[in-house]
Amino acid sequence: MNTVRADILQQLKRVVIKVGSGVISTAEGLDGVMIAQLAEDICDFCARGIEVILVSSGAVAAGRNSLGIEGRPKTIPQKQAAAAIGQPRIMRAYKEVFLRHNRVAAQVLLTRDDLSNRRRYLNAHNTFDALLEYGVTPIVNENDTVVVEEIRFGDNDNLSAQVASLMEADLLLILSDVDGFYDGDPACDKGAQFLPLIEKITPEVMAMAGSSRGTLGTGGMQTKLQAAQKASLAGIPTLIVDGRAPGILRQVIEGSDVGSLFLASSSKLSARKR
Ligand code: GLU
Repeated sequence: MNTVRADILQQLKRVVIKVGSGVISTAEGLDGVMIAQLAEDICDFCARGIEVILVSSGAVAAGRNSLGIEGRPKTIPQKQAAAAIGQPRIMRAYKEVFLRHNRVAAQVLLTRDDLSNRRRYLNAHNTFDALLEYGVTPIVNENDTVVVEEIRFGDNDNLSAQVASLMEADLLLILSDVDGFYDGDPACDKGAQFLPLIEKITPEVMAMAGSSRGTLGTGGMQTKLQAAQKASLAGIPTLIVDGRAPGILRQVIEGSDVGSLFLASSSKLSARKR
């Protein structure tokens, strides 16, 4: 394991894990096997003394079939209706696995407004604090049913970075449907090079992300890079790995060189002072 990665993992006390719709759902709806695997792995992190906040997408993907919608819903009300149906389905799926490990999961729904208003920001912080103190796993999603375009995070990649910064996590771990960051789009460019370590997110790095989008999720690599950049400014490194690879969280925690690691641009302490 390279030493930068070892340093980060050895000091890991609190992690925000973000999972995309593309990882935990299929065209038919939620992928129960993937959700069970993820929840098991999170319990394993907790057993190692690491606090986990999960930011999970999948509400729209879990609900749209009940509306007879194929692919991504087109209008905002369609999306909101699908999310309203799907969100309790996601929570039920996680809750069942957590229960088998005697863990409790809590639902936290946020809008961008909630984190830009100081009073609500502090409320959200206090709620997370209390949940973690009681050993409960917060499961966060955007409050899709009440937000309109202007107050939407729009994608859970950015939301996860905000939560990581709010809770001063030691790592933002993004479970994606690709195995990390390439200098081109590996889906259409066979020569695209994999980048295991990105020390600084420069405009050139940003440009490499292109604007790829999956069919189920909202963000492509670009929103993941925006998230990594936000986290980096808050003093938090980001690791992007393939969330569908079997045993991936165990590999991360046991130090395998999987995924792409983006370093923080400053320490958490100096970020907080700033
Ligand atoms: N909040 C949306 C959902 O749960 C997803 C947003 C995203 O994937 O970035 O379906």
